[in-house]
Amino acid sequence: MVEKYKIPQMSTGDLLRAEVAAGTDLGKKAKAAMDAGQLVTDEIVLGMIQARLAKPDAKNGFILDGFPRNIPQAQALDAMLARLGQPLQLALLVDVTTDILMKRLTGRRSCGSCGAIYNIYFSAPKTSNKCDKCGSSLTHRSDDNEQTVGKRLGVYQQQTAPLANYYKAQGKLRTVRGVGVVSAIFKNATDIIESQIRPLADVMSKIESAAARQAAKAKAEEAKAKAAAKAAKAAKAAKPIPAAKAKPVVAAKAKPVVKKAAPKKVAPPPKAKAKSRKATKPATKAKKVK
Ligand SMILES: [Zn+2]
Repeated sequence: MVEKYKIPQMSTGDLLRAEVAAGTDLGKKAKAAMDAGQLVTDEIVLGMIQARLAKPDAKNGFILDGFPRNIPQAQALDAMLARLGQPLQLALLVDVTTDILMKRLTGRRSCGSCGAIYNIYFSAPKTSNKCDKCGSSLTHRSDDNEQTVGKRLGVYQQQTAPLANYYKAQGKLRTVRGVGVVSAIFKNATDIIESQIRPLADVMSKIESAAARQAAKAKAEEAKAKAAAKAAKAAKAAKPIPAAKAKPVVAAKAKPVVKKAAPKKVAPPPKAKAKSRKATKPATKAKKVK
């Protein structure tokens, strides 16, 4: 997807490692937390995501991987992205049954020599426990056992699975079946992405151009009103000097003249201003969303 859409994937684990390695303020904070055996706070993680989003390659979009993992994180993320004017457009649920997930994780075997990865259920080596490529014996990671994986899946069910309803309520959830041939899963996922996001982009550009037209119209009206006000002011400067002079002297006579003239001259600019303010607001909104 990174290749297809030319947008970066942001894995919170990768971001964390990069910030720590670069020795940034956030990296230092994260390292201090990890060294103390604590979890890196959501605040730090969100700060890292925000810093990553500021890089030019994220201008056209981004894929978040491994975050959010619970509702409070999702809410904090939404708030941050709203501030940045880059709200999420789609939450993609890759649906795999617990039974298959368990086999994928517990069946994993890797070659310590060449790094090849196998799965005893889905992509077993030709000879049991021997690497097809280099013949070394395969290792089974200690945390890929049924108990540990079961715990991880339990945490997922309890904390992360509720995100499906969270994004469903926002109308952003789409589901792709994560079982079968990888290329078919990929095709289904990209079909979903394109049906969900492309029309959205079209709608946004329509809104934006309408808002731009309205803003231009308002601007022209404002310029017209300004010119009219200027002309009126010039006329006032040329003509009403006697009236202004007369005002204190012949109050009764001068007052109605001034009163009548004032609303005519003063009224147009604020009207035009209010109009233009109204019109420019959606324009900035639409831009931000894009
Ligand atoms: Zn090997």
